[in-house]
Amino acid sequence: MATLPRNRMGSQQYDENKLGFGDIFTDNMLTIEYSSTDGGWQSPKIVKVQNLSLHPAGMILHYGQQVFEGLKAFSGAKESDILLFRPDMNIARFNRSCQRLCIPSLDPKIFMDQMSELLRKDRDWIPRTPGTSLYIRPTVIATDAHLGVRPSRTYLFFIILSPVGAYYPEGFEPVRIMVTEKYARAAAGGVGEAKTGANYAASLLAAEEAHAEGFTQVLWLNAVNRLSIEEVGTMNIFFRIDDEIITPKLGGTILPGVTRDSVIQLCKAKNMRVSERVISIDELVSSAKSGKLQEVFGSGTAAVISPVSHFRYLGHDYMVGDGKTGPIAKELFDEITGIQLATRPDPFGWVVNVG
Ligand SMILES: *Cc1c(COP(=O)(O)O)cnc(C)c1O
Repeated sequence: MATLPRNRMGSQQYDENKLGFGDIFTDNMLTIEYSSTDGGWQSPKIVKVQNLSLHPAGMILHYGQQVFEGLKAFSGAKESDILLFRPDMNIARFNRSCQRLCIPSLDPKIFMDQMSELLRKDRDWIPRTPGTSLYIRPTVIATDAHLGVRPSRTYLFFIILSPVGAYYPEGFEPVRIMVTEKYARAAAGGVGEAKTGANYAASLLAAEEAHAEGFTQVLWLNAVNRLSIEEVGTMNIFFRIDDEIITPKLGGTILPGVTRDSVIQLCKAKNMRVSERVISIDELVSSAKSGKLQEVFGSGTAAVISPVSHFRYLGHDYMVGDGKTGPIAKELFDEITGIQLATRPDPFGWVVNVG
């Protein structure tokens, strides 16, 4: 495989095998401005990637009125292919998040058409090395220059694109996670089910403390009594206990992941026993103690599936199964990435080719 891709020139040249996450951006971006006094959403524009010009009183900077999404484009067998995985789910979630944050929604067709247009324009940036992809980051921010607390009357929607590396360049390695008792990610009635920057800002300190103790991610418990399990880091979480696949049920505090939904549907199609239900940390600990805990894995767009080998709770370390990547995690990873790249059948019609 050629190290320098066919698509790069000048200072932006990079090695597809050494791509990280989110530091390199393509040539162009999409912008759509919104003004409540000027007819709502304006005409979309594709422009060179550039700094934004924002008044220091811009409301996003003070009150965090913002929503984002994250999805990936893949190259396919044909040079012209641009493959997206369930983009309708991301667009629908974007609009649900906007509603929670008092941001005007965007016509799903305009969103899809304009995102596709941008992808076609920057198609040469889609990396081809196995495991790589072009990460798509749609974002909307409040832009009124105003210091009173109220919803903004103007917004900027933009989409930027970033070629990203293989999440597992050295193989599908499990991670260690730490259950936090001290912090909570989201409370019922809050913004936990919206994809908004505030949730990430609120998670940083817990993640830093977990990293300092040698753990990759935080396992979040519910905010009220820290009894039930919610999510892991910025992923949804799955457990295999006694051959039941369990994921916490959505209830307002958990981000409804596209990967989560895909895992549930694939497991059902394979006739596995799948439950969306409350799972307590005590149930997890006792399943680990009794040897019934077979697998734990996170699910999200970036890693697809992230197997967990150990977790720490109240100072005790527990091993998951034999501490290695489990067969269901592996099978789901292969299945989902295979569908995304159109190297496996797509029985649900999840892949959209916008090339
Ligand atoms: C984006 C996100 C996920 C994963 O969602 P996907 O659609 O699968 O990428 C899970 N949890 C949080 C908090 C997220 O922000």
